[in-house]
Amino acid sequence: MSTDNLYDDELVNDITPNVFAVLGREKFFERLDDRFCPIDASQKRSLCQKSFEISTSVLRDIGFDSEEIRDVIEVLHANGACCDCEVLYNVAEESPLKSGYWKARAFNKGPYNSHSPAQGN
Ligand SMILES: [Zn+2]
Repeated sequence: MSTDNLYDDELVNDITPNVFAVLGREKFFERLDDRFCPIDASQKRSLCQKSFEISTSVLRDIGFDSEEIRDVIEVLHANGACCDCEVLYNVAEESPLKSGYWKARAFNKGPYNSHSPAQGN
């Protein structure tokens, strides 16, 4: 049993569908995407800091409290994201909410700048 993990898999699996439902309703992935690639070109692009800093900030904007944010990050992590850009690459693509829109963005736009995956973790 892992002791460095606050949540067990069962709990994460349990809350995942609800978390995705809420994230979809609140347009979390769109908001996050907009931080990396703002529709308004005059806005500064965020860079992935290899953390969940931008996700956290978006979730705060939406109105989540810190406990809820911790739950959401845990679900994102369990679904293949280790940082903000991977939320868009891995989770948005895999989520039950994925749409042609996201596929198009992921494949046409290329990397969100960010860090090089070759750097490892
Ligand atoms: Zn990243």
